[in-house]
Amino acid sequence: MQSYQIQPIGHIQSPYKQKFAIPRQPRLVPQAQAKLIFCDDFNREEFVRGIDEFSHLWLLFRFHETADKGYSALVRPPRLGGNERKGVFATRATFRPNGIGMSAVKLEGVEYKNGQLALLLSGIDLLDGTPIVDIKPYLPYSDAMTDASAGFADTRPETHMTVSFSEQAEQFIAKQTQYPQLRAFIANVLKQDPRPAYKKQKQQTQFYGMSLYNFNIRWQVDGEHNQVIEITQE
Ligand code: SAM
Repeated sequence: MQSYQIQPIGHIQSPYKQKFAIPRQPRLVPQAQAKLIFCDDFNREEFVRGIDEFSHLWLLFRFHETADKGYSALVRPPRLGGNERKGVFATRATFRPNGIGMSAVKLEGVEYKNGQLALLLSGIDLLDGTPIVDIKPYLPYSDAMTDASAGFADTRPETHMTVSFSEQAEQFIAKQTQYPQLRAFIANVLKQDPRPAYKKQKQQTQFYGMSLYNFNIRWQVDGEHNQVIEITQE
């Protein structure tokens, strides 16, 4: 079979600096804002003329962080607690042939500033630096299927996790006026319960850390409660 080379058209600037804690699908954390920066070959307004007529876009991208780790025929969807295996093509797993991902995200605006074309997006589930290979408008009349069924992933993943912030965390957030949604962003990331499935069964208090933007966030999990202990600047 013939193989193809694909040239990225741009890359994502995202607040998610590491895989851990990125939601498992787009739009689960609406406050996750990102920019799609076009590569030189596509850095012309003609390429996006008319795109602002669409509220949502499909992004096709490369799982660049894991692409060189290959793929497996069977994977363990986190939805099933990490114990049961499904065929990779029956899942949205990252370890797949060709390492291509797709996410429907919200288009917040188009920016052309200092000679650089960018799309402003929200609700993303992409790591910082993710290469984008194509963009297509989301078409509700065709893409939204109200009679669709989705087996083991039929419903939006819900957790009962609650979140509170220490005084230090509250004060730190209050000073970050350039990120007015920061508190809700952190809270919604934690409500997704980013812990690996096997850790969720443990009962004792556990401590975790993640980077969002250039902030280090430390929190502890006690049962179904997340307490943000400390936020610092990197
Ligand atoms: N919505 C996409 C899809 O269905 O193809 C991605 C689904 S995948 C289950 C979502 C996970 O991909 C995120 O939780 C994050 O850990 C991981 N991820 C995001 N960007 C990535 C990248 N550039 N390379 C590798 N993994 C990435």
